[in-house]
Amino acid sequence: MSFVQGLRCVLCGAEYEPAAVTYVCPRHGNEGILDVIYDYAAIRKRLTREALAERREPSIWRYLELLPVERPDLIPPLQVGWTPLCRARRLGERLGLQSLWVKDDGRNPTASFKDRASAVGVVKALEGRRRTVTAASTGNAASSLAGIAASVGLPTVIFVPERAPEAKVAQLLLFGATVFMVRGSYDQAFDLCLQASHKYGWYSRNTAYNPYLSEGKKTAALEICEQLQWQAPDRIYVSVGDGCIIGGLGKGLRDLLALGLIEQSPRLIGVQAEGSAVLARAWAQGGEEIEPCAPSTLADSISVGIPRDRVKALRAVRETGGAFTVVSDEEILEAMRILAQEAGVFAEPAGAAPLAGLRRDLHEGRVDPRERIVLLVTGNGLKDVGSAIRAAGTAPHRIDPTAASLAQAVKQLGL
Ligand SMILES: *Cc1c(COP(=O)(O)O)cnc(C)c1O
Ligand SMILES: [Zn+2]
Repeated sequence: MSFVQGLRCVLCGAEYEPAAVTYVCPRHGNEGILDVIYDYAAIRKRLTREALAERREPSIWRYLELLPVERPDLIPPLQVGWTPLCRARRLGERLGLQSLWVKDDGRNPTASFKDRASAVGVVKALEGRRRTVTAASTGNAASSLAGIAASVGLPTVIFVPERAPEAKVAQLLLFGATVFMVRGSYDQAFDLCLQASHKYGWYSRNTAYNPYLSEGKKTAALEICEQLQWQAPDRIYVSVGDGCIIGGLGKGLRDLLALGLIEQSPRLIGVQAEGSAVLARAWAQGGEEIEPCAPSTLADSISVGIPRDRVKALRAVRETGGAFTVVSDEEILEAMRILAQEAGVFAEPAGAAPLAGLRRDLHEGRVDPRERIVLLVTGNGLKDVGSAIRAAGTAPHRIDPTAASLAQAVKQLGL
């Protein structure tokens, strides 16, 4: 038995019994994304700081009361979440900051943040006795779903656009997913996947459609605050494509405030790539109206023309007093290099974008150096080796297998 009270439409506020709807608000169709409502009064009695300190579970499931799980026996065996939050002293010094941390979500089972959502999605699929799960994705959501579903023997059908990076497609194939590579954009793959899930009864793990996924995503906010001994940071930087992650973090912070586990919310700072900055532009114009774009950025994980979770994303930024920052692909590549060389964290482009955003904000005087700041790194650099090599901007030194050749090179390099 979970503490879920119902599902509430983000557009009209209508509430539904969880058993009455599977995905979205019947009145609003695909736009009517649902938010999971909990019985905070009951949770408050169990989920205290002291109770959490006693828990040994090093995963998202340590927050079971705040997750929509009816059957804990169906939880997949992989360790998802409770990723390290490392103090980044050297990087902080370089930026002139006193307190900087990196939360490395590249260290999830399939090497991205998406595992948090997939794990919850897989539990819901098993609870609903679904025989197949499906997703459309530029890569990480799909490879994550394929891996976590493989751990419980659940078949997956995945729709990817043609330009998905090879490493992510390799993961899909190795995890045994059926992969449809759609000759078209991510947005077209998304629509086709939704149609297929209805037509064939496959359970949909689609961002901003399945209401339970943001519940998995919110766990990163819970972890950050617990890992900082409930002294919430001043800012959390996160990259934004569809807006599901930032919306999920917003939900986690709302939970923590409602339960009295933190006193004040960190500002959520959404970082977008110049060539895919639909939400940042909507934010700058002060409204909820978005203008879709033809996305173009090397950060494939945040290359999105029609952000699906715009309502939750903009609400999260508004409610936390946050903001959006836009960065160029060049700045992202530079951030990949700096993050690797100053903090030892190997990130894919979207994973390093938060650092690019922080550097931009520092440059423009929007950050006080005394602020306590967390960078959320959402994906591992091995996901996109081509960009990593570009970001490094160097090549190995070729030598002969002789001491003389080495000596010459050492001298040349001044080592
Ligand atoms: C999916 C993803 C994002 C963006 O998340 P949205 O919910 O689409 O905003 C950022 N980084 C990585 C590595 C991702 O896989
Ligand atoms: Zn509605």
